Amino acid sequence: MSYAKPLPVPDPQTQPFWDGCRAGKLLIQRCGACGTHRFPPTGVCAVCGSDATGWVAATGRGKVFSWIVVELPIPKATYAQDVPYAVALVDLEEGVRMATNVVGCDPYAIAAGMPVRVRFDAVTEEVSLPRFVPDTGGAGDGA
Ligand code: ZN
Repeated sequence: MSYAKPLPVPDPQTQPFWDGCRAGKLLIQRCGACGTHRFPPTGVCAVCGSDATGWVAATGRGKVFSWIVVELPIPKATYAQDVPYAVALVDLEEGVRMATNVVGCDPYAIAAGMPVRVRFDAVTEEVSLPRFVPDTGGAGDGA
């Protein structure tokens, strides 16, 4: 398997998230003091300031908050670019917002509030990227 695009570089704070993706789970942090979910991973809760943190599996379902359709390749990029593609902000059911790609549909058919669900794409042996596809309400996550 060959993947030439830039890959995430996990650090101690984000490693559990990427480990979860590899295992097919969308993990987000949950404050151990007040219960607020948060993403991206941080050391302290923005609501109560506690550093008590746990990880929970999100449902993987959410709605498109906003998006753009990239139509022009990135100048001087050395890898193939599959334009057009969508970069989106998805609001998860848990109340956090995630930057991602919406795939599996015509990018020009994406709409605000569109229901989506996560799909994990194993782009290398070490990295699975969480992307979102339209949620048509069917059973299972289709991963
Ligand atoms: Zn808190």
